[in-house]
Amino acid sequence: MKAVQLIETGKPLELREVPLPEVGKRDVLVRINAAGICHSDVHYRAGTSPVRSLPQTLGHEVAGIVEEVGAEVSSVKAGDRVCLHYMVTCGECYYCITGNEQFCVHGEMIGKHRDGGYATFIAVPARSVVPLPSEIAFEHGAVMMCSSATSYHALLKARLKPTETVAVFGAGGLGMSAIQLARALGAWEVYAVDINADKLKLAEHYGAIPIDASETDPVAEIRRLTQRRGVDVALELIGLPLTQNQAVECLAVFGRAVMVGITDEPFEISAYRNLIGREAEVLGCSDHLAQELPTVLEFACRGHLDLSQVVTRRVPLESEAINEVMDALGRFSGEARTVIVP
Ligand SMILES: [Zn+2]
Ligand SMILES: [Zn+2]
Repeated sequence: MKAVQLIETGKPLELREVPLPEVGKRDVLVRINAAGICHSDVHYRAGTSPVRSLPQTLGHEVAGIVEEVGAEVSSVKAGDRVCLHYMVTCGECYYCITGNEQFCVHGEMIGKHRDGGYATFIAVPARSVVPLPSEIAFEHGAVMMCSSATSYHALLKARLKPTETVAVFGAGGLGMSAIQLARALGAWEVYAVDINADKLKLAEHYGAIPIDASETDPVAEIRRLTQRRGVDVALELIGLPLTQNQAVECLAVFGRAVMVGITDEPFEISAYRNLIGREAEVLGCSDHLAQELPTVLEFACRGHLDLSQVVTRRVPLESEAINEVMDALGRFSGEARTVIVP
């Protein structure tokens, strides 16, 4: 089969002919119909977030059709439309048993720790497979397995309640899902903070109140728009100390700021002014849970989550096209989301 692989860190990906993966007794072989190209993949290629071993087939946002199942698999059958939970977990460790399998001690991420979706086929354990309803396009289902699922997990971590207000820092792929899901969960107002006019326009299309941080101080603007109260929930999806600080600064009394964007840099908060004085909370959010994925797909089926304006480009399973998309993502100039359609 064909696979686009990282052969050497820091170099372009290469198209290779590789053997079909083996299908174990509890595994499912999926013919891939869509694989999202994610900003994380750019970090894997560059080595800023290293993969486990080389060569490595990238791609953790995967949807397709079941081709074959192992002897002990009864949950899905050949021909089923599916998408994949990107963490392959053991199901037996403390974290798996308590339903927090994103911390599985044997956890392997597809496209990073084991071969991923930039290929014709992928084999994963049956417990990683989620049925994809026929109303949802493969391209959308694939992307929902990463950005939409993580946005949803962040809103659950934030304990968002109906009638509350939300600020989303970063109107990219994660942000567009976060805005829609926050509204679906009953948020009365969702503010979208970004410096890119096109992204803010799209955020507005999805129901957010846009705040252009290149023109105005977003914290002051959020205070003005909320009659000085601040927001109940702030999601930081960028991973910059500046916006992490702003996400905490714009909180209301009892507000919760959730950190999703990744950086090694520290950011500053005043325990007294930001946290104690408001009984505010700062939370971390890592990935999402398998049990959240069917709900995310159900939001899409019910029309609350629409990625038709987010997934804007399709490329074939060819190294040149994929490398170009990753180059653009690395410069922050890429399309909102590109999906490989083999
Ligand atoms: Zn991703
Ligand atoms: Zn486990």
